[in-house]
Amino acid sequence: MVIKMETTHFRHPLRFPKNADGPFYTTGHLSSTADDPSLPTAWCGNCLWCGAPEAEAPNLFAPFDDNYTDTYFVRQPSTPDETEQAIMAARVCCVSAVRYGGRDRDVIAKLGNNPEMCDYFLTESGELECTVGENGELLPFAQAIVDARRVELQRQLKKQHKKWWQFWR
Ligand code: SF4
Repeated sequence: MVIKMETTHFRHPLRFPKNADGPFYTTGHLSSTADDPSLPTAWCGNCLWCGAPEAEAPNLFAPFDDNYTDTYFVRQPSTPDETEQAIMAARVCCVSAVRYGGRDRDVIAKLGNNPEMCDYFLTESGELECTVGENGELLPFAQAIVDARRVELQRQLKKQHKKWWQFWR
């Protein structure tokens, strides 16, 4: 499936400022310990450069060297392959700090229509509903979706770890 990038995207309140403009981004938070003078406020990235997202999309993230400690997009995907890479980078980030703020339904579907990674949720009627509030937190309906999925995942994991004689319980 060829993925076409949409140009408009949500402006997440906690978007890490160094991200290149565009739908894929990483989140951050204000920190009193960060001291980068080029930034008006002291932002710290929420994804701290373990290399996992960078390994998935090496040409899209800040270079993996000693000058950077935060994970952020230096440019947006410009080809279908790069879009796939950005999607994989979002999927491997263990704190869901790599997000997609675009409205492209194919990309949202590939991210599991998951508010943990997407600023828009695709409803059953095909509408796009924003998942994020003004403070950057998930809106209650989106949080409920995330919570329900976590419960289901835990249930499935528990089931897989059952011993064979526990199968019918
Ligand atoms: S992928 Fe997870 S472990 Fe790696 S830097 Fe991001 S948040 Fe940290």
